[in-house]
Amino acid sequence: MKEFEKNIRRVEPYVPGEQPQTKVIKLNTNENPYPPAPGVLCAMKEMETQMDSLRLYPDPTSDSLVSALADYYQVGKDQVFVGVGSDDVLAMCFLTFFNSEKPIFFPDITYSFYKVWADLYRIPYECKPVDENFRIRKEDYYGENGGVIFPNPNAPTSIYENLEFVEDILQHNQDVIVIVDEAYIDFAGESAMALLDKYENLIITQTFSKARSMAGMRIGYAIASPLLIKYLNDAKYSFNSYTMNKTSLVYGVEAVKDKVYFEEVVDKIVATRDWAAGQFAELGFVFPKPSGNFLFVSHPDYDAGELFCALKEAGIYVRYWNQERIRDYMRVTVGTRKEMEELFAFLRKYMNK
Ligand SMILES: *Cc1c(COP(=O)(O)O)cnc(C)c1O
Repeated sequence: MKEFEKNIRRVEPYVPGEQPQTKVIKLNTNENPYPPAPGVLCAMKEMETQMDSLRLYPDPTSDSLVSALADYYQVGKDQVFVGVGSDDVLAMCFLTFFNSEKPIFFPDITYSFYKVWADLYRIPYECKPVDENFRIRKEDYYGENGGVIFPNPNAPTSIYENLEFVEDILQHNQDVIVIVDEAYIDFAGESAMALLDKYENLIITQTFSKARSMAGMRIGYAIASPLLIKYLNDAKYSFNSYTMNKTSLVYGVEAVKDKVYFEEVVDKIVATRDWAAGQFAELGFVFPKPSGNFLFVSHPDYDAGELFCALKEAGIYVRYWNQERIRDYMRVTVGTRKEMEELFAFLRKYMNK
């Protein structure tokens, strides 16, 4: 090692899913198969007349988007924080809230970015094994810790736990910050937002990438008590004041405004997901009950890694991790009904069914 390398921060980075730049059936990174709300297109056209405004910095407070989200969720503007995708919001949360000598807790099978941020910021952590059905064991989170984070529904398992479960973890962790990553909540059930008034140490993160069809815009947000949002903003303004560009702010507001379109899209995806679950079951796949816009499937007679490769060869991308506990599983994003039909046509042929 060269002398100057000794003091370089070294991290093992997060590995994102493949983003092929050619046309494939893309069921590998949980994007939405439907376009953003129609209002976004109007805003794009309007943008053409605003080129001159790009000379100027954007609003550092992101007030327009913060206000739209505060209205939508019926919370105060001082309870909303926005960032460049929820990855940015979560990274800022790790930096701001997880500064204990005690380890933070999160599940062993979960969003793999948690471990990367913990390593990056030198935060001690302990992974709590999910049970044999991939369920989070809430009792594992009762011990002393420096903070807790878990997604609900969890990824890549797509398992949703009800509010009672979430509240039990909060009740046992009132002296640390608890982050509930609700990237997929709109496909699942009740949000932990209902618990905000009761728990000042709760922070909920959500994203425009999945249910709101805007992964390409990079918008995420956190909702919490004014106290936590203030700490989060202090850290953000010590790092980068202008995280949200003007375009993201404008398109983001349009997407939030159109509740009807949003609910239509979510309903369509949920219907396709539930139909797809029936198809997978018919073909002999096993999987936990899906509550996100994706399914976590395994087949007793077929090697998941081989199936993943065969699918890719056929131009159908899904996600596979050659990793302990989950190497028999593939994660399949719910696409359009037509895309899913093509997937099942391929699987039937592959399995001679
Ligand atoms: C997709 C995802 C995110 C991050 O999404 P962004 O595109 O950065 O908003 C965060 N957590 C989980 C569990 C996810 O699946």
